Amino acid sequence: MGSSNNNFLILSGAVLAVVLIGAGFYFLSASAGPEDDRSKMTAFDILRTQSLKSEGKCAFCGTLGTNHEHADFKVYLNNEAINFNNPAYFVKSSYVHVESGENPAETGNVIHIHARNVPLWFFFESIGMSFKESCFGFNSQLYCSNSGNKLRLFVNGVENSQLGNYVPKNLDKILVSYGKDSGIGEQLQSITSYSARTALGD
Ligand SMILES: [Zn+2]
Repeated sequence: MGSSNNNFLILSGAVLAVVLIGAGFYFLSASAGPEDDRSKMTAFDILRTQSLKSEGKCAFCGTLGTNHEHADFKVYLNNEAINFNNPAYFVKSSYVHVESGENPAETGNVIHIHARNVPLWFFFESIGMSFKESCFGFNSQLYCSNSGNKLRLFVNGVENSQLGNYVPKNLDKILVSYGKDSGIGEQLQSITSYSARTALGD
């Protein structure tokens, strides 16, 4: 008699404990929300999204992991391609990055996008470059549009005036080009198609 009562009490206690722990986890995860999942953010992400949020302009902060898209891209400065197959550029942001993938040929040719509404400038800024208005920054040098040279963005072969504010879409072929008007055709041709061809991992 007494032992069956004890068993009941122990069982009730165990059930209550499970419910309380479950509720605790639920409230913790609910209050943390996607905005505060810093464990997955890089140092750049934490700093930059903080400043963007305080300025009230971040359409993508906190949406990490809600998306996974890919775009092939090239950047040419005076007809010379920047090589993004460089560990110094890998995964500097969790929102958008190049990375060393399973297919070595793809590495540095594909932007991986892990949130919605992430503009191109955010990617370039994360790797120490810049893409602001009519200037592209690379190796401490600014390449700005002037009378003889132009900074241009092409998306799927069509010129796009949004420049660094453009938000890449899945399977886009993106060209950023600075210089004289020559060579754009060849530059467009050089953009790879790995996003469309393969199921890319991360
Ligand atoms: Zn990916």
